[in-house]
Amino acid sequence: MPSGNLFTLVPVAVTTEVIPDDSISVLDHGFVRLDAAMADDLSVVNGARVSFARRREELDEADEGLIRFLMRDRHGTPFEHNAFRFHIRCPIFVAREWFRHRIGSFNEFSMRYAKATDDFYIPEPEDVRSQVGKPGSYSFEPVDPELAEHTREELQALYEAAYATYTRLVEQGVARELARSVLPVGAYTEFYWTVNARALMNFVSLRAAETAQREIRRYAEACEQFLAEQMPITYDAFLANDRTAP
Ligand SMILES: Cc1cc2nc3c(=O)[nH]c(=O)nc-3n(C[C@H](O)[C@H](O)[C@H](O)COP(=O)(O)OP(=O)(O)OC[C@H]3O[C@@H](n4cnc5c(N)ncnc54)[C@H](O)[C@@H]3O)c2cc1C
Repeated sequence: MPSGNLFTLVPVAVTTEVIPDDSISVLDHGFVRLDAAMADDLSVVNGARVSFARRREELDEADEGLIRFLMRDRHGTPFEHNAFRFHIRCPIFVAREWFRHRIGSFNEFSMRYAKATDDFYIPEPEDVRSQVGKPGSYSFEPVDPELAEHTREELQALYEAAYATYTRLVEQGVARELARSVLPVGAYTEFYWTVNARALMNFVSLRAAETAQREIRRYAEACEQFLAEQMPITYDAFLANDRTAP
C-alpha cells in the first residue's frame, strides 16, 4: 500500500489494547466487530425471484422455503447480494490462515508505516495442547499443568526479548519494515474484511469446524454469531444443510 496523505492523515487507533464495546472478544487481546452490514434474508429471496420478475417487500413462509431450497440445491448466487464488513484483531498466524479465503476484501494494519503492537498471544493453560497422529487426523490433547505453564512462560520471555530488539533497532534508526523481521507470528495484527454471506458461510464451514485450528475457530464462531443475527433464515438453512455453504 502506498504511503502518502491518504494513509498518514487518518488517525486510526490500530493494534492497541482497546477492545471496542460492540465487539466479541476473542483470545487474550483480540476481537471480532461487525463494522457495518448490508445483509438480510429478503435480499436472498429477491435475488432468486427476479428470475420470474417477482419482488417481495416482506418474507413469508414460502420465501423461507425458497431459502432452504436454494441452500440445499446449492444455488449460491442469491446469497451474494449482501455485505458484512468485519473489523478483526487477531494473531498474525490466524490472519495468515484467514487471508487464504480469496472471496472477500482485506485491508491490514501496516508494520511498515506504524509501530508494531506489543500485544502477543499467550494461550490460556487449557489451550496449550499436544499434537498426536498424522496430518489430516491429528488429535490435540491437553498437556499437564506444568508444561502448560512452562509454555506460557517461554512464550512470554521470547515475546519480551523480540519486542525489546524490535524497539532497540527502531530507536537506532532501522526502518520499521525491516525491524519487524524479529517479531513472531504470535504478535497481534488488525484488519478489515468485507465478505458476502456465501463466502462467509464457506469460511464458517471450514474454520469453525473441528478440523480447524482452535484459535481461528474461535474467530469463525464469532463471525458466525453475526451471520446468525443478520440473516437468521439463511443461517438456519445453513445449519440444516450440515453447515455446507451453497
Ligand atoms: C483445516 C484446514 C487446513 C488447511 N491446510 C492447508 C495447508 O496445509 N496448506 C495450504 O496451503 N492451505 C491449507 N488450508 C487452506 C485451504 O486450502 C483454502 O485455501 C482455504 O480454506 C480457503 O478456502 P476456499 O478456497 O474455499 O475459500 P475462498 O478462497 O474464499 O474461495 C471460496 C470459494 O470460491 C471458489 N474459488 C475461489 N477461488 C477459486 C479458484 N481460483 N478457482 C476455482 N474456484 C475458486 C471455490 O469454490 C471456493 O471454495 C487449510 C484450510 C483448512 C480449513
